[in-house]
Amino acid sequence: MKAGMLVDSFVREAPRYRAYTHRHLDAIPQLAGLPRDLRHAIRLAAQVFPFRVSNYVLDELIDWDAAPDDPLFRLVFPMPEMLDDGALAEVDRALTNDDRETLHAAVARIRRGLNPHPAGQLDANIPVHDGRRLNGIQHKYRETVLYFPAQGQTCHSYCSFCFRWPQFVGDRSLRIASSRVSDLVDYLRAHPDVTDVLITGGDPLVMQTARLASIIEPLLAPGLAHVRTIRIGTKALGYWPQRFVSDEDSDALMRLFERVVASGRQLALMAHVNHPRELEPEIARQAVRRIRATGAMLRSQSPLLHWINDDARVWSRMWREQVRLGIVPYYMFVERDTGARHYFEVSLARAWEIYRDAYKCVSGLARTVRGPSMSAWPGKVEIQGVAEIHGEKVFVLRMIQARNPDWVQRPFFARFDETATWLDDLVPAFGGERFFFQRVG
Ligand SMILES: *Cc1c(COP(=O)(O)O)cnc(C)c1O
Ligand code: SF4
Repeated sequence: MKAGMLVDSFVREAPRYRAYTHRHLDAIPQLAGLPRDLRHAIRLAAQVFPFRVSNYVLDELIDWDAAPDDPLFRLVFPMPEMLDDGALAEVDRALTNDDRETLHAAVARIRRGLNPHPAGQLDANIPVHDGRRLNGIQHKYRETVLYFPAQGQTCHSYCSFCFRWPQFVGDRSLRIASSRVSDLVDYLRAHPDVTDVLITGGDPLVMQTARLASIIEPLLAPGLAHVRTIRIGTKALGYWPQRFVSDEDSDALMRLFERVVASGRQLALMAHVNHPRELEPEIARQAVRRIRATGAMLRSQSPLLHWINDDARVWSRMWREQVRLGIVPYYMFVERDTGARHYFEVSLARAWEIYRDAYKCVSGLARTVRGPSMSAWPGKVEIQGVAEIHGEKVFVLRMIQARNPDWVQRPFFARFDETATWLDDLVPAFGGERFFFQRVG
């Protein structure tokens, strides 16, 4: 089937992309409808948390009658509760006094306190090749290498909970980015175990197609036949579906996907979808149809987030809708231990309940989703359930992925803790001293 056939009826009159940052809050017309105090508080929070939103999200996704409680509003607007009162007051004072220096210093300090690089991202995952650390590449799990192209380290809009936030705030020491595809190619040549390359960000689809092609095409070289899947992690389906449909180089992007497929590889679009409403606009559906028509696959993933999707009905609706459109549900993540985590966090016990309640009322085709999963130092740790064994209530856990492949899929047990929200909060069940993957001493 030719890629164009499904979308012939589409009229290319999509709006042009416009983004607003914390400097342009006053220019967002819909915000004027919110209480003045709230607008001010949002302005303060937006000094600390990266803020960027596109006209598409403002005009098509957010339900302004329901703001600020609307989940799509919470998805992009930083809220005052994300900061503690002291930090908020400090930012307020500096801003009121128009004191740039104090403001910069305060913001930098507050950000450092927000655990910018959880789970060993800056040390344990960066590979060394020929005696050189390859910045912009991460290799934690044997089969899958992550690549962070320098030009893809931003997003069409920013999620208020994003764990990639240091990528956006312009602090170079916190940034993971590569501008050398040759590093990636050399590394892959030396690592025949790697079957998957995941191009990630930010959102690599903020890049022009030509730039993306300059990264992907070298991966199709004959010497890299062991690379079987090229994944692109993206939020463009929700935040700027025009990327696949009506941007100037959308067709070129579809041709690029087709070239990957023609090379005998899988092109997998790993779509970040947090809420079923992101998939409702006709243009998002058109985007899915066009992507599928190239032979590319779509998979979806999302963290479970208080205020946004902490409801089993939202997840089951989302998975069902994804299956109908041809998107394979892949991961449900536990919100990571970084940024405004306390604001979005859901306890592990509740996360498991939500997962299970959603999972049990969808058909088998949607039960491809795994989770709730914590991307922690040792690996992706999944909460498989809560059980009682010899009178002790426990979490049953397993690693879906692990730093050491031998750790994968071994059941292990932690003492049940109603309030735990991350792996660090858990202790081994049955009086054990440490989990099997923890080193002695
Ligand atoms: C999740 C993840 C991957 C991908 O793992 P798959 O199981 O292949 O989907 C790769 N690297 C890191 C660091 C990850 O967190
Ligand atoms: S799309 Fe992904 S990388 Fe971009 S802001 Fe959202 S969570 Fe972060």
